[in-house]
Amino acid sequence: MNRVYCCFPGGKHKALTMSYDDGRSYDRRLIEIFNRYGIKGTFHLNSGLFDRGDRVEPDEIATLYRGHEVACHTVTHPTIARCPLPEVAQEVLEDRKWLEARTGYPVRGLSYPNGSVTKEIEEMLPALGIRYSRVVGSSDSFALPENPYRWQATCHHNHRLMENGEEFLKLFKKQYLYLMYVWGHSYEFKDRDNWDLIEAFCEMMGGKEDIWYCTNIEFMDCMDDFKRLQFAADNSFVYNPGARDCYISVNDQAGIRIPAGETVQL
Ligand SMILES: [Zn+2]
Repeated sequence: MNRVYCCFPGGKHKALTMSYDDGRSYDRRLIEIFNRYGIKGTFHLNSGLFDRGDRVEPDEIATLYRGHEVACHTVTHPTIARCPLPEVAQEVLEDRKWLEARTGYPVRGLSYPNGSVTKEIEEMLPALGIRYSRVVGSSDSFALPENPYRWQATCHHNHRLMENGEEFLKLFKKQYLYLMYVWGHSYEFKDRDNWDLIEAFCEMMGGKEDIWYCTNIEFMDCMDDFKRLQFAADNSFVYNPGARDCYISVNDQAGIRIPAGETVQL
């Protein structure tokens, strides 16, 4: 029987994603760096805080973040573990509505303000149209998220960023999928005066053949698309019922494309 493995787009086995919160004006400089090196990321925004100074302009959201993902961070950034559940639901849904009116696509990602979450909130999120949510802290791991509603990054950019990056570049075992996930706030580069850190990281990580550069939701969608593939019982063919191409490896041959809506003999 064919040995089939899930791959990232292009048959790759490593993915890099970035995740930045609060939509402060320093996002502009950060995105300029990301774009220069082909790095992709997700920006979690508070729709109710755009008049609080030092933020990006609502009018520039669609253009500034193009090619990256705009995601929720709630309307007003409360510590939601302390709030009534209906209030949390509205903080998420109203944020989605406001952001969707400006981006034109379904906004399905979230990061918890102040890293605050409870089991009840986590369980409510799928019903609010949220597919993943990021917690705070650093795992120092390249493993895929076991629970997307408690998604912890590999590291904050001020925690072993270059060391983790160097380790990630050295990974070569193609029997595994690896993810490096970096999070932070763009204003922290200004506060610590360490823009050179993220510049050096992006320069080191960009343009690599074996890395898929993705937003947070693109990563989740890729994993979900694979689960929807319909394999013959003997793995001799597969049908892709989705609207996006999928990539698999078959008997160690990586990068086999399963086009959207098609059946492929393996
Ligand atoms: Zn925040």
